[in-house]
Amino acid sequence: MAKSVGRTEVKPLQPLSSLAPPEFEGHLPSRNSNEDTKPSSPNSNVFSVLMSSHKENEAWKEATVAEKRDFRPNKNGGRRKAPFYKVMQGMPIAVDAFRYGTIPGVTAYFLTHAHSDHYTNLASNWKSGPIYCSEGTANLIVHMLAVDKKWVYPLPYGVPTEVPNTGGVHVTLIEANHCPGSCLFFFEGRQTVNAGDSAFESPFVGSSKIFRYLHCGDFRASPRHVLHPLVNGKRIDHVYLDTTYLDPKYTFPPQPLVISACAELSRRLVAETERWLIVVGTYSIGKERIVKAIAHAVNSKVYCDSRKAAILRCQADAELNALLTSDPLEATVHLVPLGTITSDRLKAYIERFKGKFSKAAGFRPTGWTYTPPTGTNELPTIASIVSHPHRGFNHTSLRPARQSTAALQLFPVPYSEHSSFFELTCFAMSFDWGKMIATVNVGSENSRGKMAKWVGRWEAERKKRGKDEIVPYRHIDYW
Ligand SMILES: [Zn+2]
Repeated sequence: MAKSVGRTEVKPLQPLSSLAPPEFEGHLPSRNSNEDTKPSSPNSNVFSVLMSSHKENEAWKEATVAEKRDFRPNKNGGRRKAPFYKVMQGMPIAVDAFRYGTIPGVTAYFLTHAHSDHYTNLASNWKSGPIYCSEGTANLIVHMLAVDKKWVYPLPYGVPTEVPNTGGVHVTLIEANHCPGSCLFFFEGRQTVNAGDSAFESPFVGSSKIFRYLHCGDFRASPRHVLHPLVNGKRIDHVYLDTTYLDPKYTFPPQPLVISACAELSRRLVAETERWLIVVGTYSIGKERIVKAIAHAVNSKVYCDSRKAAILRCQADAELNALLTSDPLEATVHLVPLGTITSDRLKAYIERFKGKFSKAAGFRPTGWTYTPPTGTNELPTIASIVSHPHRGFNHTSLRPARQSTAALQLFPVPYSEHSSFFELTCFAMSFDWGKMIATVNVGSENSRGKMAKWVGRWEAERKKRGKDEIVPYRHIDYW
């Protein structure tokens, strides 16, 4: 175990319910450790043995079949098979893999955050095994999905915790900079079992080598991640990477600058006349930071419907809770579903409050709205990416969409809770890793091929540099 990281003694894990830890239906590891499977030489090239490229291709092919959209359970129930990257290599641990039901050999199910594409199929009838997540995520899945509390084990951030029934694997939660409750999982331990549905068998099962895996869930990479004591100066064997925007065309600005720009623009509008209503479109959870900043800038409460308010209250965010009101006329800032931020719908929405508000500014925050400046290099070198000259971003950078009128202004906002291409590159260039495994946009061979090229370029550049140094950053919160 890493000697430099103090193991805090923690109380035995307790589920959210006060019941004794439940019996679970998951199969206990059956293909258990076997000394014969040790790699022949302890000095053999770890990278090549982790998974040869042929085996990796086979594993991806399997994964593609497993993820087919038209999968239907057969008469006997049936079960969608979990692709290899959903189960940590050599460990009985699955991450964001609830749609596969009871996965063979898996004894611990982890959830990175409470967005629906990560908890697919998780519901009140879950009984495949204990679920580990942050406290915020635990509250959300119990509230939104009615998952039985006896399965839900909230873990603290930053405290290495031994995961029961995993052969001694320790997990540490690291803040993801995504949505409330989101985290990265840092796993450290031996490989003890080939769990999961993949035909790939790790030759390290049963060996004494300690493996370190960093599962990024969904995250927005920041210098804080690579400065974390478990990452900085350490060798991470596998990184499971949120590759949502792994394409040079996604070059949106740092989130704190975008938040300040929205807050400043709102402040200016409301200073002009108090008949402006500021409307922010959001998904179920996420984008709360932008809402809080705007509310403070215009010195207002925040209104949303009661269903949304109950979800926000799960997050135990005292600052946000103090801002909420159930009276729409008491708040200059309204939180609405993202789909409401269109000219027709926003017009209908503001009609409801016409005694108080006559103008509406609708913010539509999503990374996808960003159009790169013309002349953006589609195939930059890694060196030119990390030394990229930064453009500023302020309230004048926010331009109303074409269909806006004097009284109804729609602002697409390049607000992202995923890393930009630039940030992914800075992240990958800042620490020592053995293998990057893409977890998003992996459905097509074409897309996987494009991403693999970038990972290959990162590897080549790291090799060329000979050592891993944190890419210089503008601020501890962003590169
Ligand atoms: Zn997410």
